[in-house]
Amino acid sequence: METVLLLAHTEADGSLAKPALEALAAAKSLGGELHVGLVGEKVRGLGGAARVLGVAGAAFAQSRYSTDAAAAEALCRASGASIVIAPGTSRWSRALPGVAFRLGGRVDAHATSLAIENGAPAVTRWFYRQRMEAVLTRSQRPWIVLLDPGCVPAWSGELVDATVETVAVPAVKMRTTVTGTRSPEAGEQTIRPDARLLFVAGAGWTKKQADGATHTAEAEKLILNFLRATQASLGGSKSLVDLSGEGEAVLRFMTHLNQIGQTGATPRHPKGLSTCCHGEEPHAVGWRFIGQRRAVNLDPNCGWARGKADVLYVADAFEVMRQVNALLQG
Ligand SMILES: Cc1cc2nc3c(=O)[nH]c(=O)nc-3n(C[C@H](O)[C@H](O)[C@H](O)COP(=O)(O)OP(=O)(O)OC[C@H]3O[C@@H](n4cnc5c(N)ncnc54)[C@H](O)[C@@H]3O)c2cc1C
Repeated sequence: METVLLLAHTEADGSLAKPALEALAAAKSLGGELHVGLVGEKVRGLGGAARVLGVAGAAFAQSRYSTDAAAAEALCRASGASIVIAPGTSRWSRALPGVAFRLGGRVDAHATSLAIENGAPAVTRWFYRQRMEAVLTRSQRPWIVLLDPGCVPAWSGELVDATVETVAVPAVKMRTTVTGTRSPEAGEQTIRPDARLLFVAGAGWTKKQADGATHTAEAEKLILNFLRATQASLGGSKSLVDLSGEGEAVLRFMTHLNQIGQTGATPRHPKGLSTCCHGEEPHAVGWRFIGQRRAVNLDPNCGWARGKADVLYVADAFEVMRQVNALLQG
């Protein structure tokens, strides 16, 4: 049995966010002795672990490579664990590959599940932009695994305070000062990773319609009303999000963060509805983890019709969404 360290950074109030609780569930599923290593301004214990190690202080409140890597390295050394499981947050994804190098170990990012196979821990991950799935084991230790958020159910047991062993971190040179955070001016929060439905808008919403005119203002209203009523998450095709840079009529709440596809995001939602989007492969590859796919397109020969959607409605998306919104409000 190997010793497993769950490595997590805490939120401002010392709590653990959902990706950390998912990584905790994955760490527990491996069996073995469980250690927990926490980094943050404030850290609180976590019941059920053989050891809880912590690095706390103002310098560790914010994401910064030098302090994050130093804290993670100190925790891994103090724990001595052979397997380190961490949530694949942007903060850890940046710092932990360097930590694996410092420890003489290995790292695998974007893991989607962990299990014991033939008596050894095995990691599942995708390659070539989610086109191939592989199951890997490694003999090198320590082995750091970054688990992508949203892949395993979060641990839902009770969080019990436990004693935290404080781990000292050697002084590090801090060249980066975080002065604040700035969010894209999207006007309205439309990306909801936990939503049951992904609603995708394509460039068709901004194109000339049957009457020879564009109807972008109505498109905005139809999409926003639908999102507000259903709390669906909003995705976009590359063509649509790129329009904003070309000075064309655009959906104002759509940013590059909404882009789904090969050069965009690959979100995980049980269902997806694509509208006015052609369903070309570089776009549809971002739908790999969408459970049930439906699309609305005027063109019966669009990409969705070629095995990429479970259901294609050959219809005018303006008409369909007007009626869907009326049903939702009624
Ligand atoms: C290297 C590379 C990487 C790429 N990465 C990505 C990526 O990450 N994500 C991505 O999205 N694309 C990506 N693309 C671009 C991709 O190939 C397509 O060009 C893009 O997805 C097309 O966007 P679209 O379907 O919204 O627009 P269009 O191709 O313009 O399609 C608009 C669709 O709207 C339909 N339509 C119009 N009006 C209506 C209506 N009233 N009702 C119903 N349907 C209507 C039309 O029939 C048409 O099918 C990439 C391309 C390359 C080469």
